[in-house]
Amino acid sequence: MNKKLNIKKLPKKLIFQHVNILDPLKEKVFKGNVLIINGKISEIGKFEQPADAKTINCEGLTLTHGFCDLHVHFREPGDENKETLMSGSRAALAGGFTRVCTMPNTTPPIDSPESISFIIQKSKDCPIHIHPFGAVTQGQKGKEITEMGLMYQAGAVAFSDDGLPIQNGLVMRKALEYSKMLDVPIINHAEDDCLRCDGVMNEGIMSTRLGLPGNPSISESTMVHRDLKLAEMTGAKLHVPHVSTAASVKHIKEMKSVNNKITAEVTPHHLFFNDEDLVNYNTNLKVAPPIRNNSSRKALIKGIKQGVIDCIATDHAPHSLHEKETTFDCASFGMIGLESCFGIVKRLLVDEEGLSLIHLVKLLTIEPRRIMGFSSNLLEIGAEAELVLFDANKSWKFDKANISSKSSNSPFLGKELIGKVKYTISKGNIAEII
Ligand SMILES: [Zn+2]
Repeated sequence: MNKKLNIKKLPKKLIFQHVNILDPLKEKVFKGNVLIINGKISEIGKFEQPADAKTINCEGLTLTHGFCDLHVHFREPGDENKETLMSGSRAALAGGFTRVCTMPNTTPPIDSPESISFIIQKSKDCPIHIHPFGAVTQGQKGKEITEMGLMYQAGAVAFSDDGLPIQNGLVMRKALEYSKMLDVPIINHAEDDCLRCDGVMNEGIMSTRLGLPGNPSISESTMVHRDLKLAEMTGAKLHVPHVSTAASVKHIKEMKSVNNKITAEVTPHHLFFNDEDLVNYNTNLKVAPPIRNNSSRKALIKGIKQGVIDCIATDHAPHSLHEKETTFDCASFGMIGLESCFGIVKRLLVDEEGLSLIHLVKLLTIEPRRIMGFSSNLLEIGAEAELVLFDANKSWKFDKANISSKSSNSPFLGKELIGKVKYTISKGNIAEII
Protein backbone atom coordinates (compact mmCIF):
# COMPACT_ATOMS: atom_id res chain seq x y z
CA MET A 1 0.00 0.00 0.00
CA ASN A 2 1.24 3.48 -0.87
CA LYS A 3 2.37 5.18 2.34
CA LYS A 4 2.51 8.46 0.43
CA LEU A 5 -1.28 8.48 0.02
CA ASN A 6 -3.27 9.45 3.09
CA ILE A 7 -7.08 9.38 2.70
CA LYS A 8 -9.30 10.94 5.39
CA LYS A 9 -12.89 12.08 5.73
CA LEU A 10 -13.30 15.79 5.01
CA PRO A 11 -13.68 17.86 8.17
CA LYS A 12 -17.10 19.55 8.56
CA LYS A 13 -15.64 22.91 7.54
CA LEU A 14 -12.40 23.27 5.60
CA ILE A 15 -10.76 26.30 4.03
CA PHE A 16 -8.07 26.16 1.37
CA GLN A 17 -6.30 29.48 1.88
CA HIS A 18 -4.28 31.62 -0.54
CA VAL A 19 -4.77 29.20 -3.43
CA ASN A 20 -4.66 29.86 -7.18
CA ILE A 21 -8.15 28.95 -8.32
CA LEU A 22 -8.17 27.73 -11.93
CA ASP A 23 -11.65 27.70 -13.45
CA PRO A 24 -11.43 25.69 -16.71
CA LEU A 25 -15.02 26.57 -17.60
CA LYS A 26 -14.51 30.33 -17.46
CA GLU A 27 -10.86 29.97 -18.52
CA LYS A 28 -9.48 32.13 -15.73
CA VAL A 29 -7.12 31.90 -12.76
CA PHE A 30 -7.50 34.04 -9.65
CA LYS A 31 -6.15 33.97 -6.13
CA GLY A 32 -8.46 33.41 -3.17
CA ASN A 33 -9.79 31.02 -0.56
CA VAL A 34 -12.22 28.13 -0.93
CA LEU A 35 -14.57 27.07 1.87
CA ILE A 36 -16.02 23.57 1.90
CA ILE A 37 -18.86 22.79 4.32
CA ASN A 38 -20.25 19.26 4.64
CA GLY A 39 -18.47 18.19 1.45
CA LYS A 40 -19.93 21.01 -0.66
CA ILE A 41 -18.42 24.20 -2.08
CA SER A 42 -19.69 26.98 0.13
CA GLU A 43 -17.63 30.08 -0.71
CA ILE A 44 -14.97 30.98 -3.27
CA GLY A 45 -12.75 34.06 -3.38
CA LYS A 46 -12.88 36.59 -0.55
CA PHE A 47 -15.27 35.90 2.34
CA GLU A 48 -15.54 35.99 6.11
CA GLN A 49 -13.77 32.85 7.35
CA PRO A 50 -15.67 30.86 9.98
CA ALA A 51 -13.57 30.53 13.16
CA ASP A 52 -14.40 26.84 13.60
CA ALA A 53 -13.14 25.82 10.15
CA LYS A 54 -9.96 23.83 9.64
CA THR A 55 -7.52 25.61 7.36
CA ILE A 56 -4.83 24.52 4.95
CA ASN A 57 -2.35 27.09 3.69
CA CYS A 58 -2.15 26.48 -0.05
CA GLU A 59 0.37 29.16 -1.06
CA GLY A 60 1.89 28.03 -4.36
CA LEU A 61 -0.83 25.46 -5.09
CA THR A 62 -3.48 25.52 -7.82
CA LEU A 63 -7.03 24.31 -7.14
CA THR A 64 -9.25 23.09 -9.97
CA HIS A 65 -11.82 20.48 -11.00
CA GLY A 66 -10.92 16.88 -10.17
CA PHE A 67 -9.47 15.12 -13.21
CA CYS A 68 -11.67 12.76 -15.23
CA ASP A 69 -10.26 9.74 -17.12
CA LEU A 70 -12.33 8.10 -19.84
CA HIS A 71 -10.10 5.05 -20.16
CA VAL A 72 -9.06 2.80 -17.27
CA HIS A 73 -8.84 -0.95 -16.77
CA PHE A 74 -9.55 -1.85 -13.13
CA ARG A 75 -9.47 -5.63 -13.80
CA GLU A 76 -12.43 -6.46 -11.55
CA PRO A 77 -13.98 -9.01 -11.87
CA GLY A 78 -11.46 -11.70 -12.70
CA ASP A 79 -7.98 -10.28 -12.23
CA GLU A 80 -8.12 -8.76 -8.76
CA ASN A 81 -4.45 -9.62 -8.24
CA LYS A 82 -3.63 -6.85 -10.79
CA GLU A 83 -6.17 -4.21 -9.72
CA THR A 84 -9.56 -3.86 -8.06
CA LEU A 85 -12.12 -1.07 -8.16
CA MET A 86 -10.79 -0.02 -4.74
CA SER A 87 -7.06 -0.16 -5.54
CA GLY A 88 -7.71 1.55 -8.88
CA SER A 89 -9.60 4.28 -7.02
CA ARG A 90 -6.60 4.85 -4.75
CA ALA A 91 -4.33 5.11 -7.80
CA ALA A 92 -6.80 7.62 -9.25
CA LEU A 93 -6.76 9.76 -6.10
CA ALA A 94 -2.95 9.72 -6.07
CA GLY A 95 -3.05 11.11 -9.61
CA GLY A 96 -5.73 13.76 -8.99
CA PHE A 97 -8.56 11.84 -10.67
CA THR A 98 -12.00 11.96 -9.05
CA ARG A 99 -13.99 10.32 -11.86
CA VAL A 100 -13.14 7.48 -14.24
CA CYS A 101 -14.79 5.28 -16.84
CA THR A 102 -13.89 1.59 -16.63
CA MET A 103 -13.38 -0.55 -19.70
CA PRO A 104 -15.43 -3.77 -19.89
CA ASN A 105 -12.67 -6.22 -20.91
CA THR A 106 -12.65 -7.99 -17.55
CA THR A 107 -13.03 -11.72 -16.93
CA PRO A 108 -15.85 -12.24 -17.69
CA PRO A 109 -16.49 -9.10 -19.75
CA ILE A 110 -19.08 -6.51 -18.64
CA ASP A 111 -21.61 -7.42 -21.31
CA SER A 112 -24.96 -7.65 -19.47
CA PRO A 113 -27.19 -5.39 -17.34
CA GLU A 114 -26.33 -7.58 -14.33
CA SER A 115 -22.59 -7.07 -14.77
CA ILE A 116 -23.10 -3.30 -15.12
CA SER A 117 -25.06 -3.41 -11.83
CA PHE A 118 -22.17 -5.34 -10.25
CA ILE A 119 -19.70 -2.55 -11.08
CA ILE A 120 -22.15 0.17 -9.96
CA GLN A 121 -22.80 -1.59 -6.63
CA LYS A 122 -19.14 -2.35 -5.91
CA SER A 123 -18.13 1.22 -6.80
CA LYS A 124 -20.45 2.75 -4.21
CA ASP A 125 -17.87 2.26 -1.44
CA CYS A 126 -14.98 3.53 -3.58
CA PRO A 127 -13.64 7.04 -2.89
CA ILE A 128 -14.03 8.17 -6.52
CA HIS A 129 -16.89 8.18 -9.04
CA ILE A 130 -16.72 5.14 -11.31
CA HIS A 131 -18.80 4.87 -14.51
CA PRO A 132 -18.76 1.53 -16.31
CA PHE A 133 -18.61 1.21 -20.08
CA GLY A 134 -20.53 -1.80 -21.35
CA ALA A 135 -19.26 -4.18 -24.00
CA VAL A 136 -20.51 -3.62 -27.55
CA THR A 137 -20.71 -7.32 -28.35
CA GLN A 138 -21.53 -10.37 -26.28
CA GLY A 139 -18.37 -11.79 -24.74
CA GLN A 140 -16.51 -9.11 -26.71
CA LYS A 141 -16.47 -11.61 -29.53
CA GLY A 142 -17.31 -9.00 -32.15
CA LYS A 143 -20.46 -10.73 -33.41
CA GLU A 144 -23.75 -10.24 -31.50
CA ILE A 145 -24.61 -6.80 -30.10
CA THR A 146 -25.24 -6.71 -26.33
CA GLU A 147 -28.49 -5.54 -24.71
CA MET A 148 -27.29 -1.97 -24.87
CA GLY A 149 -30.61 -0.39 -23.85
CA LEU A 150 -30.88 -2.44 -20.65
CA MET A 151 -27.20 -1.92 -19.86
CA TYR A 152 -27.68 1.81 -20.32
CA GLN A 153 -30.61 1.71 -17.88
CA ALA A 154 -28.41 -0.19 -15.43
CA GLY A 155 -25.79 2.60 -15.57
CA ALA A 156 -23.51 2.05 -18.59
CA VAL A 157 -22.44 5.48 -19.89
CA ALA A 158 -20.96 4.33 -23.22
CA PHE A 159 -20.02 1.16 -25.07
CA SER A 160 -16.68 -0.31 -26.09
CA ASP A 161 -15.01 -3.65 -26.81
CA ASP A 162 -11.68 -2.03 -25.92
CA GLY A 163 -8.70 -4.31 -26.27
CA LEU A 164 -10.57 -6.10 -29.05
CA PRO A 165 -11.19 -3.97 -32.15
CA ILE A 166 -14.59 -4.40 -33.82
CA GLN A 167 -13.42 -5.90 -37.11
CA ASN A 168 -16.81 -6.36 -38.75
CA GLY A 169 -18.07 -3.14 -40.33
CA LEU A 170 -21.69 -4.26 -40.16
CA VAL A 171 -21.42 -4.92 -36.41
CA MET A 172 -19.88 -1.47 -35.97
CA ARG A 173 -22.69 0.08 -38.01
CA LYS A 174 -25.35 -1.63 -35.88
CA ALA A 175 -23.57 -0.64 -32.66
CA LEU A 176 -23.58 2.99 -33.77
CA GLU A 177 -27.26 2.80 -34.74
CA TYR A 178 -28.24 1.46 -31.31
CA SER A 179 -25.99 3.87 -29.43
CA LYS A 180 -27.52 6.75 -31.35
CA MET A 181 -30.92 5.91 -29.87
CA LEU A 182 -29.33 6.11 -26.41
CA ASP A 183 -27.30 9.21 -27.35
CA VAL A 184 -24.06 7.73 -25.96
CA PRO A 185 -20.74 7.21 -27.76
CA ILE A 186 -19.20 4.07 -29.15
CA ILE A 187 -15.49 3.82 -28.37
CA ASN A 188 -13.78 1.41 -30.74
CA HIS A 189 -10.18 0.31 -30.22
CA ALA A 190 -9.21 0.91 -33.84
CA GLU A 191 -6.73 -1.64 -35.19
CA ASP A 192 -7.28 -3.82 -38.25
CA ASP A 193 -6.38 -7.33 -37.10
CA CYS A 194 -5.24 -8.46 -40.57
CA LEU A 195 -2.94 -5.47 -41.03
CA ARG A 196 -1.73 -5.58 -37.44
CA CYS A 197 -1.02 -9.29 -37.89
CA ASP A 198 1.39 -10.37 -35.13
CA GLY A 199 2.99 -6.93 -34.76
CA VAL A 200 4.25 -6.11 -31.26
CA MET A 201 5.70 -2.64 -31.93
CA ASN A 202 5.46 0.12 -34.52
CA GLU A 203 6.49 -1.02 -38.01
CA GLY A 204 9.50 0.98 -39.19
CA ILE A 205 13.27 1.25 -39.00
CA MET A 206 13.25 0.45 -35.29
CA SER A 207 11.23 -2.77 -35.62
CA THR A 208 13.67 -3.91 -38.32
CA ARG A 209 16.67 -3.01 -36.15
CA LEU A 210 15.22 -4.76 -33.10
CA GLY A 211 14.07 -7.78 -35.12
CA LEU A 212 10.51 -7.52 -33.79
CA PRO A 213 7.33 -7.96 -35.85
CA GLY A 214 5.94 -4.55 -36.81
CA ASN A 215 2.40 -3.16 -36.58
CA PRO A 216 1.96 -0.51 -39.32
CA SER A 217 0.31 2.86 -38.66
CA ILE A 218 -2.25 2.09 -41.32
CA SER A 219 -3.72 -0.72 -39.20
CA GLU A 220 -5.10 2.05 -36.95
CA SER A 221 -5.79 4.81 -39.44
CA THR A 222 -7.84 2.70 -41.86
CA MET A 223 -10.14 1.57 -39.06
CA VAL A 224 -10.39 5.10 -37.64
CA HIS A 225 -11.37 6.23 -41.14
CA ARG A 226 -14.01 3.47 -41.44
CA ASP A 227 -15.44 4.36 -38.03
CA LEU A 228 -15.57 8.07 -38.88
CA LYS A 229 -17.48 7.35 -42.10
CA LEU A 230 -19.90 5.01 -40.29
CA ALA A 231 -20.44 7.64 -37.59
CA GLU A 232 -21.23 10.21 -40.27
CA MET A 233 -23.63 7.84 -42.00
CA THR A 234 -25.48 6.83 -38.81
CA GLY A 235 -25.37 10.22 -37.07
CA ALA A 236 -24.11 8.54 -33.89
CA LYS A 237 -21.50 9.72 -31.41
CA LEU A 238 -18.04 8.24 -31.92
CA HIS A 239 -15.17 8.66 -29.48
CA VAL A 240 -11.79 7.57 -30.84
CA PRO A 241 -9.57 6.23 -28.03
CA HIS A 242 -5.76 6.33 -27.71
CA VAL A 243 -5.03 7.94 -31.11
CA SER A 244 -1.45 7.07 -32.09
CA THR A 245 -0.85 8.00 -35.73
CA ALA A 246 -0.55 11.18 -37.79
CA ALA A 247 -2.99 9.80 -40.38
CA SER A 248 -5.65 9.20 -37.70
CA VAL A 249 -5.28 12.82 -36.52
CA LYS A 250 -5.70 13.98 -40.13
CA HIS A 251 -8.84 11.88 -40.67
CA ILE A 252 -10.35 13.08 -37.37
CA LYS A 253 -9.55 16.69 -38.21
CA GLU A 254 -11.24 16.42 -41.59
CA MET A 255 -14.34 14.70 -40.23
CA LYS A 256 -14.67 17.07 -37.28
CA SER A 257 -15.09 19.95 -39.68
CA VAL A 258 -18.39 18.45 -40.85
CA ASN A 259 -19.51 16.31 -37.88
CA ASN A 260 -19.65 17.64 -34.33
CA LYS A 261 -20.32 14.20 -32.82
CA ILE A 262 -16.70 13.06 -33.19
CA THR A 263 -14.31 13.22 -30.23
CA ALA A 264 -10.85 11.80 -29.62
CA GLU A 265 -8.40 11.11 -26.82
CA VAL A 266 -4.64 10.62 -26.59
CA THR A 267 -2.57 8.96 -23.84
CA PRO A 268 0.40 10.47 -22.00
CA HIS A 269 2.61 7.61 -23.22
CA HIS A 270 1.87 8.16 -26.91
CA LEU A 271 2.66 11.86 -26.39
CA PHE A 272 5.88 11.25 -24.47
CA PHE A 273 7.66 8.27 -26.02
CA ASN A 274 8.65 7.32 -29.55
CA ASP A 275 9.66 3.92 -30.91
CA GLU A 276 13.38 4.65 -30.45
CA ASP A 277 12.72 4.37 -26.70
CA LEU A 278 12.14 0.64 -27.25
CA VAL A 279 15.85 0.15 -27.97
CA ASN A 280 16.37 -1.79 -24.72
CA TYR A 281 13.30 -3.99 -25.26
CA ASN A 282 11.56 -2.45 -22.23
CA THR A 283 8.34 -4.48 -22.08
CA ASN A 284 6.62 -1.68 -20.13
CA LEU A 285 6.63 0.19 -23.47
CA LYS A 286 4.64 -2.58 -25.15
CA VAL A 287 1.16 -1.12 -25.59
CA ALA A 288 -1.73 -1.35 -28.04
CA PRO A 289 -1.76 0.63 -30.24
CA PRO A 290 2.05 0.76 -30.19
CA ILE A 291 4.31 3.70 -29.41
CA ARG A 292 4.87 5.24 -32.88
CA ASN A 293 7.76 7.16 -34.41
CA ASN A 294 8.68 10.72 -33.51
CA SER A 295 6.81 12.36 -36.36
CA SER A 296 3.57 10.64 -35.27
CA ARG A 297 4.24 11.78 -31.72
CA LYS A 298 4.64 15.36 -32.93
CA ALA A 299 1.39 15.07 -34.91
CA LEU A 300 -0.43 14.08 -31.70
CA ILE A 301 0.94 17.15 -29.90
CA LYS A 302 -0.10 19.33 -32.84
CA GLY A 303 -3.52 17.65 -32.73
CA ILE A 304 -3.89 18.77 -29.11
CA LYS A 305 -2.78 22.32 -29.87
CA GLN A 306 -5.26 22.57 -32.76
CA GLY A 307 -8.16 21.12 -30.76
CA VAL A 308 -8.43 17.99 -32.94
CA ILE A 309 -7.75 15.87 -29.85
CA ASP A 310 -10.34 16.61 -27.16
CA CYS A 311 -8.88 15.07 -24.05
CA ILE A 312 -6.15 13.09 -22.34
CA ALA A 313 -6.94 9.58 -21.10
CA THR A 314 -4.45 7.27 -19.40
CA ASP A 315 -5.47 3.78 -20.64
CA HIS A 316 -4.34 2.67 -17.15
CA ALA A 317 -3.71 -1.05 -17.76
CA PRO A 318 -2.22 -2.93 -14.80
CA HIS A 319 -0.34 -6.19 -15.37
CA SER A 320 1.44 -8.52 -13.00
CA LEU A 321 5.21 -8.81 -12.95
CA HIS A 322 5.40 -12.18 -14.71
CA GLU A 323 3.38 -10.83 -17.67
CA LYS A 324 5.97 -8.11 -18.21
CA GLU A 325 9.18 -9.82 -17.09
CA THR A 326 9.39 -11.94 -20.20
CA THR A 327 10.51 -11.46 -23.79
CA PHE A 328 9.06 -8.50 -25.71
CA ASP A 329 7.13 -10.85 -28.02
CA CYS A 330 5.42 -12.62 -25.13
CA ALA A 331 4.75 -9.67 -22.79
CA SER A 332 1.22 -8.36 -22.28
CA PHE A 333 0.15 -5.04 -23.81
CA GLY A 334 -0.39 -2.05 -21.52
CA MET A 335 0.97 0.15 -18.75
CA ILE A 336 -0.41 1.82 -15.63
CA GLY A 337 -0.89 5.55 -15.94
CA LEU A 338 -3.02 7.27 -13.31
CA GLU A 339 -0.36 8.32 -10.79
CA SER A 340 2.14 9.68 -13.31
CA CYS A 341 -0.25 11.33 -15.79
CA PHE A 342 -0.30 14.93 -14.56
CA GLY A 343 3.48 15.20 -14.01
CA ILE A 344 4.10 13.90 -17.53
CA VAL A 345 1.65 16.03 -19.45
CA LYS A 346 2.39 19.16 -17.44
CA ARG A 347 6.12 18.78 -18.16
CA LEU A 348 5.68 17.86 -21.81
CA LEU A 349 2.77 19.98 -23.01
CA VAL A 350 3.10 23.09 -20.84
CA ASP A 351 6.80 23.38 -19.95
CA GLU A 352 8.27 21.98 -23.17
CA GLU A 353 5.54 22.60 -25.76
CA GLY A 354 4.15 25.92 -24.55
CA LEU A 355 0.52 24.90 -24.06
CA SER A 356 -1.26 27.04 -21.47
CA LEU A 357 -1.94 25.47 -18.08
CA ILE A 358 -5.64 26.29 -18.56
CA HIS A 359 -5.71 24.35 -21.86
CA LEU A 360 -4.02 21.37 -20.22
CA VAL A 361 -6.47 21.40 -17.30
CA LYS A 362 -9.40 21.51 -19.74
CA LEU A 363 -8.07 18.34 -21.41
CA LEU A 364 -8.19 16.60 -18.03
CA THR A 365 -11.43 18.05 -16.65
CA ILE A 366 -14.24 19.72 -18.61
CA GLU A 367 -13.46 18.12 -22.00
CA PRO A 368 -13.77 14.45 -20.90
CA ARG A 369 -16.86 15.37 -18.85
CA ARG A 370 -18.41 17.08 -21.88
CA ILE A 371 -17.86 13.96 -24.01
CA MET A 372 -19.70 11.79 -21.48
CA GLY A 373 -22.33 14.39 -20.55
CA PHE A 374 -21.14 14.60 -16.93
CA SER A 375 -21.72 17.79 -14.96
CA SER A 376 -18.82 20.16 -15.50
CA ASN A 377 -19.71 23.19 -13.40
CA LEU A 378 -17.69 22.00 -10.43
CA LEU A 379 -16.81 25.36 -8.93
CA GLU A 380 -20.46 26.35 -8.50
CA ILE A 381 -21.58 27.21 -4.98
CA GLY A 382 -23.38 24.17 -3.60
CA ALA A 383 -21.60 21.67 -5.88
CA GLU A 384 -20.18 18.51 -4.33
CA ALA A 385 -16.46 19.09 -3.74
CA GLU A 386 -14.69 17.21 -6.54
CA LEU A 387 -11.36 18.96 -6.69
CA VAL A 388 -7.65 18.62 -7.12
CA LEU A 389 -4.87 20.81 -5.75
CA PHE A 390 -1.46 20.59 -7.38
CA ASP A 391 1.92 22.26 -7.32
CA ALA A 392 2.36 23.03 -11.02
CA ASN A 393 6.11 23.60 -10.84
CA LYS A 394 7.19 20.84 -8.47
CA SER A 395 9.75 18.60 -10.10
CA TRP A 396 9.93 15.05 -8.78
CA LYS A 397 11.09 11.62 -9.75
CA PHE A 398 8.40 8.98 -10.25
CA ASP A 399 9.21 5.84 -8.29
CA LYS A 400 7.49 2.77 -6.88
CA ALA A 401 6.71 4.57 -3.61
CA ASN A 402 4.35 6.85 -5.61
CA ILE A 403 2.31 3.93 -6.94
CA SER A 404 -1.02 3.03 -5.35
CA SER A 405 -2.04 0.59 -8.06
CA LYS A 406 -1.59 -3.12 -7.29
CA SER A 407 0.69 -3.25 -10.33
CA SER A 408 3.80 -1.27 -11.18
CA ASN A 409 4.24 -1.75 -14.94
CA SER A 410 5.26 1.79 -15.83
CA PRO A 411 8.05 2.97 -18.16
CA PHE A 412 7.89 6.33 -16.36
CA LEU A 413 9.63 4.90 -13.28
CA GLY A 414 12.79 6.92 -12.72
CA LYS A 415 11.65 9.76 -15.00
CA GLU A 416 11.72 13.39 -13.91
CA LEU A 417 8.18 14.81 -13.90
CA ILE A 418 7.06 18.41 -13.39
CA GLY A 419 3.76 19.09 -11.61
CA LYS A 420 2.63 17.12 -8.59
CA VAL A 421 -0.80 16.51 -7.16
CA LYS A 422 -0.96 17.43 -3.47
CA TYR A 423 -4.63 16.92 -2.49
CA THR A 424 -7.59 15.22 -4.17
CA ILE A 425 -11.08 15.80 -2.80
CA SER A 426 -13.76 13.32 -3.79
CA LYS A 427 -16.96 11.84 -2.33
CA GLY A 428 -16.47 13.45 1.08
CA ASN A 429 -12.83 12.44 1.35
CA ILE A 430 -9.58 14.34 1.18
CA ALA A 431 -6.54 12.44 -0.05
CA GLU A 432 -3.17 13.96 0.76
CA ILE A 433 -0.31 12.92 -1.50
CA ILE A 434 3.01 13.28 0.30
ZN1 LIG B 1 -7.69 0.10 -26.35
